[in-house]
Amino acid sequence: MQSRSQQLHIPKGIRFSCSECGNCCLQWPVPATTDDFERIERAREELGGAFPASRELFRVLNAADSKLSLFSHSLEKRADGKCAFLTGENRCVLHEKLGPDAKPAMCRLFPYTFTGTPDGVFCSVSFASTATLFNQGEFLDRQSDILQKKHELFSQLFPQLNLDWSYAQVVDGVPLDWAVYREYEAPVLSCLEQESARRAEALLFEKTEGFRKLVPPEVNLDNMADFEARPKLIDQVLIKHLLRFYVPVDVFGESSMDFQARSVLEEVIRGSEKVELVWMSKGIGFGQIFSSDLGDLSDQCRDLLRRFLYLRVFSKLFFGPGFNYLSVVAGFHHLITIAVLARLCLKLDLLSGVLSRDELATQKALLRLAEHMRSIERRLTVADFSEETIAMLEILLASPRRIERLISLSA
Ligand code: SF4
Repeated sequence: MQSRSQQLHIPKGIRFSCSECGNCCLQWPVPATTDDFERIERAREELGGAFPASRELFRVLNAADSKLSLFSHSLEKRADGKCAFLTGENRCVLHEKLGPDAKPAMCRLFPYTFTGTPDGVFCSVSFASTATLFNQGEFLDRQSDILQKKHELFSQLFPQLNLDWSYAQVVDGVPLDWAVYREYEAPVLSCLEQESARRAEALLFEKTEGFRKLVPPEVNLDNMADFEARPKLIDQVLIKHLLRFYVPVDVFGESSMDFQARSVLEEVIRGSEKVELVWMSKGIGFGQIFSSDLGDLSDQCRDLLRRFLYLRVFSKLFFGPGFNYLSVVAGFHHLITIAVLARLCLKLDLLSGVLSRDELATQKALLRLAEHMRSIERRLTVADFSEETIAMLEILLASPRRIERLISLSA
């Protein structure tokens, strides 16, 4: 009999089956255990073929990160950015010739993720996967055997990953009991679970009002640091830097996992007159962004944003040990801001001429949004914020008025 903390929870309405797009085999080095390394070394000889020598194929890891303590190597990519084992037909040659167990454990796990909590383990799938982005394949709640096995693999790979939720906070300095969190989370989740004609980030903002009401009245969420600066200037500088962090020009070339908190504050203190976003090498001012409307997105685009928010909330990967120890209110507001950024990317696509207004309802806009979401997910996965960054986000993202303004910015 399974204990409560081991029970698997599976999100509703979410599909995934590998679409063999090969996208997860591009660019990123794959962490490999010593077992993976030895097995792949043997397979390389067994398969013959023109695979690189092992000193080029693998890099020895210096395990500074305790979460990755089981990984001794990383499987590097070729000069063209693809894995040496990816065929011209986007198939993994290890899988094809020697079976799925021949692949590195991380490749077998992807894109499934698991978050341990006092109430059980919450499953999710990564939006870096094409099938997740387009909700393709088998429903997760019909894959419980697969999920059990993936969870066993996850537990073997990350044996020390015991997330401690006892330090969850409503906002910085205001503790939140886990049972209270779950009680308040239930209506938020049931709302995001269903398809909706409404903008998911606006819905999420409305439904998280209960959490903001848990904040003691003496805490001024709109100015927690008692810091005098033009609020709209802060909005713009924050968006500019968040956009640069989450949707960099080259997501694979971007190595810093921290956000430039100091640059945000310096720019706000300098009191710049005009903030510009750089998109497709063009400078686009906030005046232009305010004066243009994104309008209605297609049902598929809206649903993509809704599923992203639903899965992040379901899997608790947005606050406390689930994401950089942000408080629940800042964590929800950060998630809403992420959806705002994704919509803003489409708006910038329109303003820079990458998309025409007529194309907004077409597959082209869906593909653009999917690539923006893939970039955001990849950056969220590696984001490792310093205490300085977390403190700044806690203060700037606590403000409900700021979040309302940001929601209207991406309308
Ligand atoms: S080992 Fe196979 S599954 Fe893993 S990245 Fe390479 S090609 Fe993809």
